[in-house]
Amino acid sequence: MPTFQNHISSKLPDASTSIFAVMSKLAHEEKAINLSQGYPDFPTSSELINLVSEAMKNGFNQYAPMPGIYSLREVISEKIASMYGAVYHPETEITVTAGATQAIFTIITALVKENDEVIIFAPAYDCYQPAIELNGGKVIEIELKSPDFKIDWNKVKNSISDRTKMIIINTPHNPTGTVMSKDDMMVLESLIKDTNVIVLSDEVYEHLIYDGLQHQSIARFPGLAERSFLVASFGKTFHNTGWKMGYCAGPAALMTEFRKVHQYNVFSVNHPVQKALAIYLKNKDNYLVLPDFFQKKRDLFLDAIKDSKFSFEPSAGTYFQLLRYDKISDENDVQLAKRWTKEHKIASIPISVFYGNKLDHKALRFCFAKSDETLLKGAEVLNSL
Ligand code: PMP
Ligand code: GLN
Repeated sequence: MPTFQNHISSKLPDASTSIFAVMSKLAHEEKAINLSQGYPDFPTSSELINLVSEAMKNGFNQYAPMPGIYSLREVISEKIASMYGAVYHPETEITVTAGATQAIFTIITALVKENDEVIIFAPAYDCYQPAIELNGGKVIEIELKSPDFKIDWNKVKNSISDRTKMIIINTPHNPTGTVMSKDDMMVLESLIKDTNVIVLSDEVYEHLIYDGLQHQSIARFPGLAERSFLVASFGKTFHNTGWKMGYCAGPAALMTEFRKVHQYNVFSVNHPVQKALAIYLKNKDNYLVLPDFFQKKRDLFLDAIKDSKFSFEPSAGTYFQLLRYDKISDENDVQLAKRWTKEHKIASIPISVFYGNKLDHKALRFCFAKSDETLLKGAEVLNSL
């Protein structure tokens, strides 16, 4: 095909294919155990599949209402109220989205203007930066350092200025598996009290938290909730990342701006799946079992590699475990992840790609949302390295 390349001025000149796409493709080609991209290798609930299929048979196959069906927004509102004590009105404060990714892109597009600054914490989930830059915003990256990846609030304080439009937080945190404490949230609350800063709180792993820790949602802190968007993903919660369903909650004034963009971005999202989720989400057990379910998987995996040469702190949340490999190799993490996929048939995610300066902590991220059999096979390979 004749190329038009010389005529294109890229809006994202530095963007390359997402590491998740790269590593999953390589794992597939190499027939490697895929502990890279974050998705379960076990099925989603058959009850939920039946509910979707019923909704399709019952004719819910046309556009859903723009903000999502009311019955689903109502259960989401009840869920947030019962877990975090904040009331978001289903009519004006909750919108159902095509996964968390669309919610994040829509929030940033709705609020960030040319030259606005947005503070993110690196390693940062990969969709934040391009969305900020496409909207003319400037990324202010604050580094989290190995091994504890704690937020340095002094750095945050010094980074906030009149140009700061937004701060993006993510707890439990992908890729490090750390969680923000109540103190962290209270410091954030006090730092932005007298500013116009908006918070985007990426809480897609809200139900994946271990060792009795409590998820510190933005919704628990009134001083934060009044100026924040809470973003969640059904794909992570109900083991069906391929359905791309999520939601966004926020005070009415912010949600009004969100919907101005949402209606021209997707207009509305998958109708039969919304019908099914509105029923399935009513049963709290469907998500309250998750900490126990995934903690068992984390422990099985970590117990199986306890005599390996890797070093690690058990993941406090998410379904990811970081493993430091400095006693095995001094190779760069991207090269090593690719080489091990090819030579040892185990795929992981290098975390340097989530830093603007590609900071290499000699650590790889492994996903433990896998069958016990897959985890044990993966552990066998890791023990041999
Ligand atoms: N944020 C984080 C931190 C993630 O790990 C992911 C991947 N699930 C997303 C957002 C995007 O979620 P979704 O697949 O629902 O778009
Ligand atoms: N959130 C998933 C992960 O961190 C990947 C989602 C994607 O592939 N974009 O692995």
